[in-house]
Amino acid sequence: MSSSCVSHHHQAVRPRHGGRLPLPSPRSAAASSFAPPAPRRRRAARAAAMSAEAAPGVAPAEEAGQRRAAVLAEMVEEAAVWCAVHGHVVGDRADPILILPMETSTQRVNISCRFLSFRISCTTPCFCQLQRSGTVPGVGLVHAPFSLLPARFPASFWKQACELAPIFNELVDRVSLDGEFLQAALSRTKQVDEFTARLLEIHEKMKAINKKEDIRLGLHRSDYMLDSETNSLLQIELNTISSSFPGLGSLVSELHRTLLNHYGKVLGLDSKRIPRNWAATQFAEALGKAWAEYNNDSAVVLMVVQPEERNMYDQYWLVSHLKESYGVTTIRKTLAQVEAEGQVLTDGTLVIDGRAVAVVYFRAGYAPADYPSEAEWRARLLMEQSSAIKCPSISYHLVGTKKIQQELAKPNVLERFLDNKEDIAKLRKSFAGLWSLDNEEIVKSAIEKPDLFVLKPQREGGGNNIYGHDLRDMLIKLQKEQGESLAAYILMQRIFPKASLTPLVRGGDCFEDLTISELGIYGAYLRNKDKVILNNQSGYLMRTKVSSSNEGGVAAGFAVLDSILLTDE
Ligand code: ADP
Ligand code: MG
Repeated sequence: MSSSCVSHHHQAVRPRHGGRLPLPSPRSAAASSFAPPAPRRRRAARAAAMSAEAAPGVAPAEEAGQRRAAVLAEMVEEAAVWCAVHGHVVGDRADPILILPMETSTQRVNISCRFLSFRISCTTPCFCQLQRSGTVPGVGLVHAPFSLLPARFPASFWKQACELAPIFNELVDRVSLDGEFLQAALSRTKQVDEFTARLLEIHEKMKAINKKEDIRLGLHRSDYMLDSETNSLLQIELNTISSSFPGLGSLVSELHRTLLNHYGKVLGLDSKRIPRNWAATQFAEALGKAWAEYNNDSAVVLMVVQPEERNMYDQYWLVSHLKESYGVTTIRKTLAQVEAEGQVLTDGTLVIDGRAVAVVYFRAGYAPADYPSEAEWRARLLMEQSSAIKCPSISYHLVGTKKIQQELAKPNVLERFLDNKEDIAKLRKSFAGLWSLDNEEIVKSAIEKPDLFVLKPQREGGGNNIYGHDLRDMLIKLQKEQGESLAAYILMQRIFPKASLTPLVRGGDCFEDLTISELGIYGAYLRNKDKVILNNQSGYLMRTKVSSSNEGGVAAGFAVLDSILLTDE
């Protein structure tokens, strides 16, 4: 029996209260008919694709399975090519290094690195340049990991999630204006969390000089999972800084549409049920419109980036749309470069490398590792002090912290910021259980049943949450310490999405696994004083991860990019 994908059934779905497990549902008829988990590589599947005729004496069900496996194998190949020609790419994690001799000569030197070992000619002295996939565009590309088929997602929940986007956008804006609320809500956290303390320090300085941000730009992503226990859409978190994958995420929807246009009939899947995804163009539009509001034709957009960034093509998609559709130039700088090359003129203009900056778009600066020295903090402060539009401003950034998420979920807090009761009800319906660790009863429950909770520190970017036994141990340790350290964390109800069998493609290889998915809805918000220029739902990002993994990051290697196929149920 041939299979189009290697099956990796690492682990069953995690146990939960009552000991019941959500039954894995196949992603589609095609996925359900995958061959049993025989560990074959894709080459075997290619052979199957070439000879899809069943051998004499093969049972009809098995024959149908073989045909479908052959179709999927063909799809893997077509998808990989599509990714290459449409820019669905990331820098290779294997870190290939290109060595460029600067000049030629007759002297020979030995060069070796992890992948290469050869002799080249070069002059004396020998100048060689190392280029890594995460630092130089065009070096060491590989397709971004993706799911071969779109994830089924009920249309009613999709509609619900889309409707929430403009309401969350407005909420972020309103909360950002209440500096007292932000300072008070984070006052205990800052005593035990140095990173939050540094952010608050900048916020405090801006408050002290009564800094006003007339033009405010938010590029957000609100992430949700469908909880199978309550059959409800629950928010995981709201990202207000560096919301990633608007570029590549929109491509996956196109990839899936293309695949289903070719193979949808045989798989019984309709490509029209994949919602259009314009995240990249919509984010570029928001950046372009913000740039126009700043009203300086020679100004640029400054994209603040990490020194090494494998996800740079996701960012370059926005750069490219901005240039093509709005004629706006983007420059990329690290925080350290901003510190070295930047200044704020007396009229407030931020100038980097001699160029005025209209919009600062952060794709870095959300994690402590982004600030290895005081130089990076000086850069952040410098930009905040300037008149450039910050996406996000320090206030918008703080609104997206997990502690503020938990504070907003308390009774009567949303009412402080929003007037429309229906909007408030819609937001609240999407809130999972969120608690501070002051709540002794909840801490006790979490120690008793750690699998029902997630413990979260004030961090972004994946890999920080605590689960299961570790969660229990940590809570016991924190209780013993009896200090303020409890204030560094929040507790969240654990959400249990239904698992399904999914063919995943990474590094050109396809494997099948039990997966769960997380839907992110992008939102763009732009206002100038009282005028709201944009307040939109701006596309989506589906991420799918093996259900045995607690974390969800694509760049971190936990998840793949996906799209959705709307269903009626
Ligand atoms: P980060 O800022 O690191 O992205 P998240 O709150 O998004 O933090 O958590 C990271 C990942 O952990 C999510 O993408 C999701 O896969 C998982 N996760 C977070 N909260 C929950 C929860 N309440 N229930 C189940 N999984 C969760
Ligand atoms: Mg997240």
